Amino acid sequence: MDGLIMDYQLTLPAILRRAEQLFGHKEIVTRLPDRSFHRYTYADFAVRAKRLALALAELGIGDGDRVGTLCWNHYRHLEAYYGIPLAGGVIHTLNLRLHPSDLTYIANHAGDRALIVDESLLPLYEGIKDGLDLEHAIVISEGGEAPAGMLSYEELIAGVDEADYTELQIDERSAAAMCYTSGTTGQPKGVLYSHRAIALQAFAAAMAGPFGLHEADTTLPVVPMFHANAWCFPFTCTLVGAKQVYPGPHLDPASLLQAFEQERVTVTAGVPTIWLGILALLDADPGAYDLSSLRAMIVGGSAAPRAMIQAFQERHGLNVVHAWGMTEMTPLGTVAMLTSDLLDAPDEVKYEYLSKQGLPVPYVEIRARREDGELVAWDGETMGELEVRGVWVASRYYGDEDTGDRWTADGWFKTGDVVTIDGRGCIEIQDRSKDLVKSGGEWISSVALENALMGHPAVAEAAVIAMPHEKWTERPLAVVVLKPGGSATDTELREYLASGFAKWWLPDEFRFVEEIPKTAVGKFRKTALREQFAPAPGSAEVAS
Ligand code: AMP
Repeated sequence: MDGLIMDYQLTLPAILRRAEQLFGHKEIVTRLPDRSFHRYTYADFAVRAKRLALALAELGIGDGDRVGTLCWNHYRHLEAYYGIPLAGGVIHTLNLRLHPSDLTYIANHAGDRALIVDESLLPLYEGIKDGLDLEHAIVISEGGEAPAGMLSYEELIAGVDEADYTELQIDERSAAAMCYTSGTTGQPKGVLYSHRAIALQAFAAAMAGPFGLHEADTTLPVVPMFHANAWCFPFTCTLVGAKQVYPGPHLDPASLLQAFEQERVTVTAGVPTIWLGILALLDADPGAYDLSSLRAMIVGGSAAPRAMIQAFQERHGLNVVHAWGMTEMTPLGTVAMLTSDLLDAPDEVKYEYLSKQGLPVPYVEIRARREDGELVAWDGETMGELEVRGVWVASRYYGDEDTGDRWTADGWFKTGDVVTIDGRGCIEIQDRSKDLVKSGGEWISSVALENALMGHPAVAEAAVIAMPHEKWTERPLAVVVLKPGGSATDTELREYLASGFAKWWLPDEFRFVEEIPKTAVGKFRKTALREQFAPAPGSAEVAS
């Protein structure tokens, strides 16, 4: 028997409609490139998002068309988050920290028909545009002007009338957003988010257990809008009508702290590198900022060190909320929290729990599997690779029919994170089976660096491993075996890599060895290398 309930579609237009009806007066604030603050209301935002949809439709953008964005966190990017899907399109957020060759690959693989780019990122765009297959390039500039061959964002939306806007009937299962991840080996993979997945995750992030975002909050996502939907903040905050603050390109600790204080921010979110920088500044001058409004600093993307969580709480009275997620999960997976039985536990025990990755949020299921294929017991001790399934977990990558190595036969997603699960269902990440380094919240592919290094005439073998780093969480270290009679210095090898990789990908250190330890099947034994080159005890902890 069917339930007799309306078939109401969970879509982004419905979120925007609600925000416009209920929260038209609420504020959205952005720090502009010149450091001044731009302010407008949800009512202004909704009008401009609709105008963007109309302007894109006039350019021929419609059902399922991908529109790339190369933008920082700001109000116009928020408009694109809604305006593109309102036109029936898919917003494809491009990671501006990637090397031009990766960006070109990703934009072309996604089939981006148009691109919206910040004026300050035009040099990056100039470097890739000849390799792109775009029909329209749109520039966001403060003055509204556009270089030859590009369209002006401001002129585009000034040229249409929101009165002409009619809401499309969008199927909640159709794609609204897209983001590529290099969180696997091989080429970056595209994840396509449906309207439904985003809407449901926005609900979950507004639940009391996970983040509890609500109308009275003032939010400032430091996590980039080009990385995994900025953890759905632009969607959740609009759904609940929170005041939204965007930092623009100003992500240094002093600018962020000043914005927290000035705008009375209550919830913020970012990777550990951001919070470690902020902690150092607060420690140096504890009374300098009034952060009494701040109720939660959400940290994820890499493991939050327990010492950091404790230091914020004990030295500054600030509450760090540790979460784990993945681009493939829209991205929220688990959140660390104290369940009722732990509320009266000693501080030691509380910190232990708050520094784990936490409990799965509703409609995310977890299990972990040992190398021999058996599922692990939830005993907090046995390690296995975490598998997930749920209402916003990707079912495959875009343009890649082969799900073989990332999804199980019964449809669970293999995360590549090695965890223990305790009796409460709380996960703790112990290691990573994927061959990558995560530096400052962004991936570096060990395999890509190794392959490039092994193309150097003097190099016989090279393995790249993650080393713990105090500021960046991890940094790459290259272990190199030279060919007999070959010679190369670390400077030469770094220069050799520099043309093909972003500067921050280049290994900080090169170690020259006689031999790289191998497994029985001839793979580099990276656990042995990590042990061999581990920094002295007392240095930073390994991230994951
Ligand atoms: P991404 O898709 O770039 O967001 O990366 C997802 C991956 O980042 C996860 O599979 C983990 O390896 C890592 N990660 C994310 N959050 C955490 C966390 N809280 N602790 C440890 N690792 C994390």
